[in-house]
Amino acid sequence: MKSFLEQNVSQDSLITLFSQAPVAMCLLTGDNFSINNANPQMLELWGRDASVIGKSLFEILPEIIDQGFQEILENVYRTGETFNGNKWSVFLEKYGKYEEHFFTFIFAPVYSGDKKVIGISIVATEVTDQVLSERMLKDSEYRFENLIKKSDYPIAIYRTEELFIEFANDQMLKTWGKGPSVIGMKLEDALPELEGQPFIGLLKDIFKTGESYASKEASADLIVDGKLQTFYYNFSYKPLKSPTGEVYAILNMAVDITDLVKAKKEIQEREKKYRDLADSMPQFVWTCDNNGEITYMNDSWYKYTGSTANENQTSLVKKMMRPETSSRVDEIWEESVKTNSPFVMEYELEDPGRKGNYRWFLGRAVPNFSENGEVKQWTGTFTDIDEFKQLETQKDNFLGIASHELKTPLTSLKLYTQFIKANLEKAGDPKNAQVAKRMDYQIDLLTGLINELLDVTKIQKGQLLLNESYFDFDKLVDEVVEEQQMTSRHKLFVSRSGAIGEVFADRQRISQVIANLISNAIKYSPDADEVHISTSMNGNQAQFNVRDFGIGIPEDKQSKVFEQYYRISGSKDHTFSGLGLGLFISAEIIKRTGGEIFVSSSEGEGSDFCFRIPKNKN
Ligand code: ADP
Repeated sequence: MKSFLEQNVSQDSLITLFSQAPVAMCLLTGDNFSINNANPQMLELWGRDASVIGKSLFEILPEIIDQGFQEILENVYRTGETFNGNKWSVFLEKYGKYEEHFFTFIFAPVYSGDKKVIGISIVATEVTDQVLSERMLKDSEYRFENLIKKSDYPIAIYRTEELFIEFANDQMLKTWGKGPSVIGMKLEDALPELEGQPFIGLLKDIFKTGESYASKEASADLIVDGKLQTFYYNFSYKPLKSPTGEVYAILNMAVDITDLVKAKKEIQEREKKYRDLADSMPQFVWTCDNNGEITYMNDSWYKYTGSTANENQTSLVKKMMRPETSSRVDEIWEESVKTNSPFVMEYELEDPGRKGNYRWFLGRAVPNFSENGEVKQWTGTFTDIDEFKQLETQKDNFLGIASHELKTPLTSLKLYTQFIKANLEKAGDPKNAQVAKRMDYQIDLLTGLINELLDVTKIQKGQLLLNESYFDFDKLVDEVVEEQQMTSRHKLFVSRSGAIGEVFADRQRISQVIANLISNAIKYSPDADEVHISTSMNGNQAQFNVRDFGIGIPEDKQSKVFEQYYRISGSKDHTFSGLGLGLFISAEIIKRTGGEIFVSSSEGEGSDFCFRIPKNKN
């Protein structure tokens, strides 16, 4: 090389090369490192001009002495060993500014003809911009790393197809149930339990396809706290690509939704349990929305009707209903929806096995409320009460026949008793005549009970006919009170706010109601001495009240006392005779007369029964 240069290249060409090379160069000679030559690039690098030629390097750049350069240069000079500096930081005072610069340089010995070191050549490039941008990149990398380190979500980066864990934040380590020691390991070594699960395969594929992968509610079995457990994640694998498009790593982000999925599964299981329960019930169980559209029917219903879940069950139920009852059902349903109160109704549905035949069902539905108090849906049942209805009819028929059959001999018995009584009185046997009188009274009680049963039969058959005409209401009250007073030890007080006069109704039946209310007042106030009866006008209605000071009626039972056979179970101290029919019949009579009947009462203090009927014919 040397001989080639000496022989072929002119001195001028070498000087041109020296001065125009894109790197800074200089030649230092002697052990005081005087600047023998420096190209313009080197002068620019020092921030000096050509006047520095001939001066010692440390004279023109005194600031570099303390930065270790004197020792380095002296060492090169002494030992003849080249020194390479890579991205060295040097503080220089250039153009009046003391600043840090970075250089990559070579200090090489320069030899004389007799191989003695006579100087040092310096070749240098300023790399300040490069170092600073590297620093900035490092900074932003550091910030990014910090950001994902602190993320609330598990994040990891896997590098190369072998899936080395380059990075995993604390959340991801927690998810894996592992410590930071797994960082740097292969994923399959760090989490051996992943074998047989799809994740490793999916990740490796991404290196081939370069495509992202995301999954929701994916289950992963991981060994956490020493045991294999199932967790659920929404996660994504995103390829990180080099500028040439090659996948060099995969970014894994995940959200642990185990609690959510477990809660969802629990709800689903619970729903299934209830559905199984509903399906195994012999009753028909269903749900519907606020519009009455059926949203669920249990298996028993499908078996019974032979229909399938694909058919519209709402219209099927409507079709099965007796056409004449369906509008009444709609009416009651609409009322329930309006008031959010339970729907209860007995109606007939066509028997799917026997066309044209109907069976009785008890339809019930209760609203299910959401947390904000709105009705979510209605849960309902159809209970087959056909047999019960038949038994009820049999019982009613039996009572009708029995009471009718009993009535005839009882009428004769009454006549014979009165005949015996009259004969005994005539024969001057007052003692036995008194016995006959008591018999007569007992026969009246029995007749009263049988009449109640007959009345109920009439009501059920729609045969309770009213024989209405004008009569004197006040007189009727006096008559009934007088009659009741004869057999009662209670004092019956009557008070009137003015006369009522003529009323248009069935005198006999109204008398029956008044007698029933007064006899109840007496019967249910065994410890009291008085019963207060009052009459008044209320608008154009005649009002009758009976106030007693007896056992009273609990609030929740007050509306029930007008129902058929309803009797409040006997109090601790007393049991009262009766069939539970008197008030039912009275209510029916008052209703048919166009009036109303009600009670206000407080338990232990007494009751006030009241009815109102229109004074005149409507
Ligand atoms: P009963 O023949 O049993 O008296 P009713 O139909 O007349 O039948 O009355 C129904 C039920 O209402 C009674 O069994 C009783 O429990 C209750 N009841 C009726 N009147 C009174 C009253 N004045 N005080 C308290 N309870 C009453």
